[in-house]
Amino acid sequence: MKTLREYIKEAEEKGVAIGHFNISNLEGFHAIYQAAKNLSASGGANVPVIIGLSEGEESFVGRTEAVALVRAIRDRDNFPIFLNADHHHSFDSVKACIDADFDAVIIDGTKLSFEENVKITKECVDYARSVTKITGRDILVEAELGYIGEGSNIKETIPEGAGILTKPEDAKKFVEETGIDLFAPSVGSIHGLIKTGKPHINAELVAEIRKITGVPLVLHGGSGLRDVDFTNAIASGISIVHINTEIRVAFDEALKKSLFDNPSETTPYKILQPAVEAIEKVVEARLKLFNRIK
Ligand SMILES: [Zn+2]
Repeated sequence: MKTLREYIKEAEEKGVAIGHFNISNLEGFHAIYQAAKNLSASGGANVPVIIGLSEGEESFVGRTEAVALVRAIRDRDNFPIFLNADHHHSFDSVKACIDADFDAVIIDGTKLSFEENVKITKECVDYARSVTKITGRDILVEAELGYIGEGSNIKETIPEGAGILTKPEDAKKFVEETGIDLFAPSVGSIHGLIKTGKPHINAELVAEIRKITGVPLVLHGGSGLRDVDFTNAIASGISIVHINTEIRVAFDEALKKSLFDNPSETTPYKILQPAVEAIEKVVEARLKLFNRIK
């Protein structure tokens, strides 16, 4: 099977993006995989997908458990499903995920100064390269510059200090000094769903940063963006799009309704089934959009 790096390259050549979806439980995993598999079956080609685990999600799901799950399904079905350590904030937590066999990691140093962000990111890149040298495993390291808020939740307004756009020259310097494989710029999106609406994605800035850095770009804070913002961003150089809050909202609403509608039901898989279907619907719609599947 092709590596995640090769799938990203292929996505860029095709002018599409790979969907990255976070999980908190097995139900989410099943729903995401089912959506990707259904689209692959109907489209005739496998739609690669990335499963994300933030530090919080990881401690709930289990680091080793998540690796085992993704690995087992990938091997069983020969399907391009990959695992990413989403927004990890320390070298130690990134290292633990690399050691556990994750395909990709994100070191999030966005709250640090530029120099400190470079330093911690470089440390993670160096470690990943040293593991590749010994094992031959291809490990992608992503980092970010520019604060786009945090938390996959519903927000009244854009958080203070978030949304300052990444300057192309800063991006270039950051990528050069760290040697990262993937870069997440701040180009207009904000983590979470914003009740007052999201700002536009600055597609010209995406194109400029893609060109000047020379590495594939990742769009965070995708939940709640308009379709046209996604398609413009992907056409301008975004190769991976992160969706989390939309999944959480779908899960939450479906689960509450299920419990409310069936107060005497006690079987977990029956209570949870509507929530799985709700996530699947969200993921399928997003994958169709990102992969230009009609
Ligand atoms: Zn993110």
